[in-house]
Amino acid sequence: MRIAMIGTGYVGLVSGACFADFGHDVVCVDKDAGKIAALEAGRMPIYEPGLDTLVASNVRAGRLAFTTDLATAVSGADAVFIAVGTPSRRGDGHADLSYVFAATHEIAAAIDGPTVVVTKSTVPVGTGDEVERIIREVAPDATAWVVSNPEFLREGAAIEDFKRPDRIVIGIEDEEARGVMQEIYRPLYLNQAPLVFTGRRTSELIKYAANAFLAVKITFINEIADLCEVAGADVQQVARGIGLDNRIGSKFLHAGPGYGGSCFPKDTLALLKTADDHETPLRIVEATVKVNDARKRAMGRKVIKAMGGDVRGKTVGVLGLTFKPNTDDMRDAPSLALIQTLEDAGAKIRAFDPEGHDQARPLLPHVEFASDPYAVADGADALVLVTEWNAFRALDLKRVAGLLAHPALIDLRNVYPPEEARRAGLVYTGVGRGDGA
Ligand code: NAD
Repeated sequence: MRIAMIGTGYVGLVSGACFADFGHDVVCVDKDAGKIAALEAGRMPIYEPGLDTLVASNVRAGRLAFTTDLATAVSGADAVFIAVGTPSRRGDGHADLSYVFAATHEIAAAIDGPTVVVTKSTVPVGTGDEVERIIREVAPDATAWVVSNPEFLREGAAIEDFKRPDRIVIGIEDEEARGVMQEIYRPLYLNQAPLVFTGRRTSELIKYAANAFLAVKITFINEIADLCEVAGADVQQVARGIGLDNRIGSKFLHAGPGYGGSCFPKDTLALLKTADDHETPLRIVEATVKVNDARKRAMGRKVIKAMGGDVRGKTVGVLGLTFKPNTDDMRDAPSLALIQTLEDAGAKIRAFDPEGHDQARPLLPHVEFASDPYAVADGADALVLVTEWNAFRALDLKRVAGLLAHPALIDLRNVYPPEEARRAGLVYTGVGRGDGA
């Protein structure tokens, strides 16, 4: 199959490289010439484990190429995937579809044979209808079928997720598109990954329902963590106790500083706007968004409390800035609101992240960036663990305690057993650990 991937970001680049690895001929397109130049020079524009070798081997095999020239990539393609960004629209939280529609106009003008146009971007229910309308308007004679194929990969484990998905959701309105989509995903289908064919609108909604459900699950355990703290219980044991029930499942039950990242915040908001537009309120999702927003600053207050209530002039060391480990993505990272709250209260921040410094620097102009976790701790009045990178899982806690001016460890990911931290001489604060263990 000949595939054009429009948008070479976290989703487009991983999907394009994986499709090439399945044996398809893939051209990844981006309007960001710097990104394409970097890729042509063999440099990855993002950090994603394993991506550099996957890209290199498929480029070498002649199956993967990069360009800024959309028209040439689309011409002769069996399928054109739209994988451009759909951020929150400023002001109202709706998904900003301007990139999707701009790409659609360009694609429509370039189609020169039967083509399946696939929205891989996360788009509100009904967007496929508009994509189809634009194509019919710009290219009335084109033979094009519009399909929805939302992506469920997680940054940090993106290649594994793409190659071993729990399911592949494909929303079609035309039977002609089914064969092309089946052929594209055939290698995964052979691996038993279920292809779930639905109508296009259903497929669009599945993506938002999935992300909203996961956001609800995280927020639920975060509220239970708050209750654990005052009621003298341990949220990790509660999570294990409920997660072993197959109807609940153990994933997404880790209490922490609240969800962030490039998807959950914007997708929950966009779903609420869709619900409003259809006069069908989703009250559980509404509550989730409110609770999670409040939690981000509450984590700042938690740190301030653990430091005795006054942080003016004090230095807080922060370990981890990206919204999760194994990515350099800073979009809506919980560290941003936490650091803002601490800076508002007069604290100075020193931070380290294994991969996030380049993306974090412009967002955190007052933060001092250190070269490793121990340099962060050196002379600081407290150390806050925000993102659970592996590099922070086996710190020499005695050394950390010796370096800190005041030995406070606020572990917002519950990485360390409280007893171990206390034995090392640290005053430990976790999340939802109210049993004094
Ligand atoms: P991204 O910002 O990393 O990448 C989007 C890319 O599209 C950018 O490089 C941009 O320059 C390019 N672009 C925009 N308009 C273009 C055009 N007309 N022609 C060519 N290139 C164009 O975004 P992302 O994180 O990869 O997300 C893409 C979509 O996938 C979003 O809808 C997102 O919600 C969804 N998604 C993301 C993830 C994730 O983990 N990042 C997971 C599942 C779904």
